[in-house]
Amino acid sequence: MTTRNLLLLPGDGIGPEAMAEVRKIIAYMNAEHDAGFTTDEGLVGGSAYDAHGAAISEGDMEKALAADAVLFGAVGGPKWDDVPYEVRPEAGLLRLRKDLKLFANLRPAICYPALAAASSLKAELVEGLDILIVRELTGGVYFGEPKEIVDLGNGQKRGIDTQVYDTYEIERIAGVAFELARTRGNRVCSMEKRNVMKSGVLWHQVVSDTHKRNYSDVALDHMLADAGGMQLVRAPKQFDVIVTDNLFGDMLSDVAAMLTGSLGMLPSASLGAPDARTGKRKALYEPVHGSAPDIAGKGIANPIAMIASFAMCLRYSFNLVREADNLEKAIAEVLDGGIRTGDIMAEGCRQVGTVEMGDAILAAFRRLSA
Ligand code: NAD
Repeated sequence: MTTRNLLLLPGDGIGPEAMAEVRKIIAYMNAEHDAGFTTDEGLVGGSAYDAHGAAISEGDMEKALAADAVLFGAVGGPKWDDVPYEVRPEAGLLRLRKDLKLFANLRPAICYPALAAASSLKAELVEGLDILIVRELTGGVYFGEPKEIVDLGNGQKRGIDTQVYDTYEIERIAGVAFELARTRGNRVCSMEKRNVMKSGVLWHQVVSDTHKRNYSDVALDHMLADAGGMQLVRAPKQFDVIVTDNLFGDMLSDVAAMLTGSLGMLPSASLGAPDARTGKRKALYEPVHGSAPDIAGKGIANPIAMIASFAMCLRYSFNLVREADNLEKAIAEVLDGGIRTGDIMAEGCRQVGTVEMGDAILAAFRRLSA
């Protein structure tokens, strides 16, 4: 039987509550479908700081490096607002991204028909929306050097960030986008600012070359990132896969997120390069939302973003495509049936808590998997 090693890092706040619902799905898949998941657990964020004085311990980092995939809940909360900067809760997530070399961030924006009315756009513009934003995560202006504030000595200071991309960084993120497009609508739109940025000129050129060399079966468009932002809110359904750099991806994926309603619905994946020997990519799956301290411990958090992150894990780390499809269908069915957590509550629906939402999704998943 295949063994699939998962490291669960529930984290703080609502992280553990949401993760508990994923644990039930894993247990079901193991018990009734011999899925062969083995799970280990670790601490991250504030809970790791309380136990080890670090945002993630060396032991848990080793487990993360050895796992086939990491499922991450959320970190942070007012309790840790004043801890030293290097060990703040977010440092655990940044360390994981860095040490696992997760250069590709995948954020789907899917609008379930039942939630179209919750979008900030008109329902007909977003109903059935299914786009994937592929953001470069380890390069660009957030990491480029020099990065400093210089005292100019005349009462003025200068803040400097450096936008820098090398060919290989653009090639590998473009490759991820083209490969994912092949499993979906087979279309990629690349966004940069080649009209004003040299890194944009290179980005455009390398994406085009990569396309010509290895992916000419996929349709490729280019758009300036500002125009892309406009198009995302004007007619989002025109896109299939969007590939862009770290800075633009940060903003465009947040814009796309709001098209779909609530933060409690949004999953994400971060992938590394394929291992030369096994072909497997290091991967971390996490909801987009944070630890929601305002509702933590009340049993009312929406577990869908966490469960949908697990669906991405089934798809991208384990190639369990049918299972991933069924889990996503299960979420859609439950929403169609009018079952809602408080954050996505609508008139005429039935409001439930975290556990009941998890149970309803598991029951639908069980039915669909039979
Ligand atoms: P947040 O995402 O935690 O919460 C924003 C709002 O959305 C809150 O009102 C919250 O109740 C609601 N919300 C979020 N997820 C929900 C869910 N699953 N179900 C129902 N409602 C949900 O963002 P914030 O309030 O800005 O940050 C809170 C803490 O989380 C901070 O310490 C922040 O640093 C941290 N944070 C962590 C991550 C992460 O772990 N990746 C991401 C963002 C923020």
